[in-house]
Amino acid sequence: MVPKSRDGYVWEKSTGVRPGIETDAVISPSRSVVGDSSKVYDAIVIGAGYAGLAAARDLGELGHNVLLLEARDRIGGRTYTAKKDGFIYEMGGTWVTHHMGYLFREMVRYGMDRDLIETGSPEKHNGYYTLDVPGAEKRKLSHEEAGALQAKAWDAFVNVDGRFGRTLCPLPHAMLDNPIVDRATVEQWDQLSCHDRYEQIKHTLTAEEQGLLVSLLLHISGGNMKNSSLWDMIRSHALLMHSTDNFGDVWLRYKLRDGQTELAKRMFNDAVKNGVEYSFSTPVTAVTQAQDKSFSGKSLVTVKATNNAVFRGRKLITTIPLNVLKDIKFSPPLSQRRQEAINIGHVNQMTKIHADVADPELEYWNGCRFPGLLMYAYSDGVLPNGHVHLTAFGADERPHFVPEKMLEKTIEEFNKLHPMDIKRLIFHNWVTDPYSQGGPAWWQPGYMSKYQDELQSRHGNVFFASADWAHGWRAAIDGALEQGVLNARTAHSEIKSATQRKNASKL
Ligand SMILES: Cc1cc2nc3c(=O)[nH]c(=O)nc-3n(C[C@H](O)[C@H](O)[C@H](O)COP(=O)(O)OP(=O)(O)OC[C@H]3O[C@@H](n4cnc5c(N)ncnc54)[C@H](O)[C@@H]3O)c2cc1C
Repeated sequence: MVPKSRDGYVWEKSTGVRPGIETDAVISPSRSVVGDSSKVYDAIVIGAGYAGLAAARDLGELGHNVLLLEARDRIGGRTYTAKKDGFIYEMGGTWVTHHMGYLFREMVRYGMDRDLIETGSPEKHNGYYTLDVPGAEKRKLSHEEAGALQAKAWDAFVNVDGRFGRTLCPLPHAMLDNPIVDRATVEQWDQLSCHDRYEQIKHTLTAEEQGLLVSLLLHISGGNMKNSSLWDMIRSHALLMHSTDNFGDVWLRYKLRDGQTELAKRMFNDAVKNGVEYSFSTPVTAVTQAQDKSFSGKSLVTVKATNNAVFRGRKLITTIPLNVLKDIKFSPPLSQRRQEAINIGHVNQMTKIHADVADPELEYWNGCRFPGLLMYAYSDGVLPNGHVHLTAFGADERPHFVPEKMLEKTIEEFNKLHPMDIKRLIFHNWVTDPYSQGGPAWWQPGYMSKYQDELQSRHGNVFFASADWAHGWRAAIDGALEQGVLNARTAHSEIKSATQRKNASKL
């Protein structure tokens, strides 16, 4: 039987909406620690998403004493796989590619690099696309035609330098400091919003192309046109090797056959095999760095959790998402700049909802309706009972769209995209979730120039690792792994040298 998490929602006509979802990501028993307050860990890692799993696993493997603390009852954070009636649903992070270096390494390590499936059906060309945008007749078109319209519009948008960003963002993993483009130029471009760029190019597009472009930009950023940074789109295009031909193949095509949770589980099991201790359902509230009298004046990091538990470590790696960090009390306080960055946060407040429908003709359908609470939906597989699986996305629609409280509205929105007979909805509301408070991080104009270096920097013995401020694939699984790996490496070398110094002084 698949265990049930507290996370997520399932709606069926017969039961209404119910919180909790079946997923192998649940860890049971939830604790391996006994709560020994006299214990000092080499490192404490907060958060069991991909950043935290990579950091804890690597430090455990290097022989350190590690404690992993997680607020939820499960691993995976913003990436986990629900299971229902023999079908898997990716609730957050979904698509993978061999072009994501940190992720590819994990897929190879755990033997999952060949276990991929394609999104949608290979027979998709038998179906159609529905397009409903302002200034154009609502119509059906082929997937090929819709793809071409969108590609033309995206190309116009990202071609900021006549070379599709090659001269501005040649090395997307080194945006601010690279040997080709000086920082001042990047910072200047970073001030622009998607709205600014759209105003420059919209006259070159038809109404259909305009509608497809704006909805795509909002689908990606999860914000609005004015608060979504243009630079993040330029960076994304650079990560697609500056070519729209790679848009689908690199970004939206391949999924792990056995689901994201299978990869996360293998990492977690590896960590535990290497002695990593853990405590789930343990939300952290405060982090204090001080010389601890009870430990002969050693400089330690003390972590407090809501259940009054206290844990001590020499180093701390926090992977708490950007929009959640404001809820944690740091002592000594964080720098003014980091606190400012945290208070502003990121803008992605997206919606993602799975629907199982009893309409076989939708097996090969995709649709876009803009504006709309759900702007996009695409078909992605058929359940063993014959129902077609659809996934839909919306951008920031706060406060008037809260799917778990507005089921009729949600069903209505799906039906505005295409008439359908919905049998079940499965979703996780990342916006109302206190441990994410948003989707994958999308920054505001100017945010990278001002805050990226600070967000990536350490605060004494506290390291900050999150996909939300990764160097390259920010807002992606690869970025989370990058941050976990890099911060674990620094923490390791410092723990190792401190141990060597201590041993040398004993001789
Ligand atoms: C809907 C959606 C679709 C996405 N699609 C893709 C995709 O297709 N491909 C892709 O590469 N990426 C995708 N992403 C992005 C990707 O999922 C994330 O960037 C990545 O999973 C973030 O990993 P992380 O470890 O940095 O953060 P998280 O996964 O958020 O992990 C942080 C952990 O910290 C925990 N935590 C928070 N507060 C506390 C606290 N106070 N105490 C203890 N623990 C706490 C959280 O519960 C969480 O488990 C998507 C994300 C979403 C939401």
